[in-house]
Order: sequence, then structure tokens, then C-alpha cells
Amino acid sequence: MQQGTEHHHRVLTRSGWAALVALVALVLALADPAVSAAEGTPKASPAADTGGLLLQLEPLPEGDPRPDGPLRVAVTMGIVADLVRQVGGQRVAVTNILPANADPHDFEPAPRDVVAIEDAEAVITYGLHLDEWAEDLVANSGTDAPVFVVTEGVQTLTSDDEEFEEGDPHAWFDPVRVQTMVANIARGLTEVDPGGAATYGARAEAYQGQLAALDTAIKERVVTLPVERRKLVTNHDALSYFADRYGFEVVGTVIPSLDTRAEVSARDVAGLVELIDREGVPAIFAENTSSPGLAQELATQAGVAIIDDLYTDSLGEPGSGADTYIGLMQTDTVLIVEALR
Ligand SMILES: [Zn+2]
Repeated sequence: MQQGTEHHHRVLTRSGWAALVALVALVLALADPAVSAAEGTPKASPAADTGGLLLQLEPLPEGDPRPDGPLRVAVTMGIVADLVRQVGGQRVAVTNILPANADPHDFEPAPRDVVAIEDAEAVITYGLHLDEWAEDLVANSGTDAPVFVVTEGVQTLTSDDEEFEEGDPHAWFDPVRVQTMVANIARGLTEVDPGGAATYGARAEAYQGQLAALDTAIKERVVTLPVERRKLVTNHDALSYFADRYGFEVVGTVIPSLDTRAEVSARDVAGLVELIDREGVPAIFAENTSSPGLAQELATQAGVAIIDDLYTDSLGEPGSGADTYIGLMQTDTVLIVEALR
């Protein structure tokens, strides 16, 4: 019995050490600016081909807590929810309506989403006809809270699709346009919570710096890909801003539309297979928000590789590496450049 107890003690002591070592590791990790940079922004990996971009992110200032509790903000999309968290920090409590990997083009709000809007002190939507379902949601909730549209003032790429008369809605694929969204968020939060002006201003400014670093890192990675290989075929037409900013050509899309709900004809598929062959496109990209079935079939017909997890209109699950906006852009850049290389 005595020996057994001693043995038991020794085990406890060992696990005590293990806990201490883990705690020290955690403290060191928290002290590392690359880890604490953006509350969950993936750490830059030094591995050039398989990891993230080489991205040094300056940490955001913590700012002051709100004396009467965090500002309750309801947001329609995960990408915008992340931007609001970056700007608001501990001053805001963000409720996001659209789940990870869900398609904003084809979303049916549930009764709990009406409750989320009702409970919010501010509502932030995306706009550009992408989250039109939010209009009914806000109306049905009867909320008096101010509603801000994050894309206000963002210069869009023109679209001949009459569904999107304000232009292509996928503007987050250009970090410079996202800087306009961040400025809108800081202004909106300050309007509702003037006491947080300094916090929102300082965090927004620091995050703008992270976006500029992201932009530079994407350019540095894309430049390693020969110009003639910068050809994109994606599931739906979501990457025009990325193509425009970083010098890619969108050769075609499996669903020939800015909207994932558009019909695809056999003739469209045959035409795209021919185009992929003629242009020498080495890979096509399915996306996290739609089933890869059709893109898979097309890749098989065209005899090219398929990348089935490009993050397009929605963030990924926590831990996916694409659970923040900057993480999404890093993940996609690496997927694209490595698949086309
Ligand atoms: Zn889309």
C-alpha cells in the first residue's frame, strides 16, 4: 500500500511538472507577437511551399473595455464578423448569423436569427445584394438598432448581371477594399458607442496595417508563379477582385454566374472543358460553400487537378486556418499558387 501511494505521488508530481511546462509554453506563446497578433490569426509558417504566407502581423492594441458590458453587435456574415471583432476587440460581443462554410447566396434565416437581431445594439450587414435575406430579417425583428452596411463607399467591379446592379459583391478578395470596410466598421461602432472612439480608432488603424502586410505578402507569393500560369477556373464567379489585384485571369467558372444558384447547362460544361484545354489551365477550384460534385465532374472531363476547398464566400470552421479573414486570404493564396505552379 505504502509503495502504491508513493508511486501515486510520483505520478502526480510528474503530471504537475507537465502542467507547469504546458503553462510556461502557453505563456511564451501568448507573449509571441505572431501568435497574439490578431486573436486567432494563424501564425506565419516559415515553410515556403506548404505553410501560410510569410506574414508578420503587428499585434492590435487591446483598448479599453466598455463600462456597461460589451456592445452587442449582430453581423450577417462570418467574414464581416471577423472584421468587427478585429476593430472592436473586447468592447464588442459579436453574433454572426451565417455559419462557417455556409453560402450567403442561398441562406434561409431561422427564428433564432431574428432573436439575434432583436437582441443587438447594432446590426452590420454586407450589402451589394449578397445578403438580401438580411433585409427581411431586420424588418421582421422590428429592431430600432442602427443598421450599417459594411460595403458603403467600396468601389466595385462592374457586373452585367442585373441581380447585382451595384457590381460584383465579392469585394473582400481585395484587402485594399476591405480597408474601406474596416473604416466603415470603426465609424459605425463609434456612432453607437462614442466612449469607445479611441479603442476603435487605434485597433482599426493597426488592423489596416495588418491588411497592408497581407496585401504585400500575397503579391510576394504570386510573383513566384509564372504569369502564363495565373489562370483561374473557380466554382462560381467569386475571384474577380483577387484576379484584378494580383494579376490573374479568370478563364471561366463552373457555374457561369456571380451567384451560386445559377443554372449550368451541358453546353456550358462542354465549352469550359474546351477552354481549360485550350488555355492549358492545370487545376480548377471548388469551394467550401458548395458541393464539389459539378466541379469534380468537370475536372475529370478536362483531365485536370481539382482543389476542393478554396474558401470563397464564407470563413472556415475554427482551426481550419481560414477562420479569420486574413487566414482565409492566406489559405487561398497558398492553395492557388501551389496548384497552378
Ligand atoms: Zn459568391
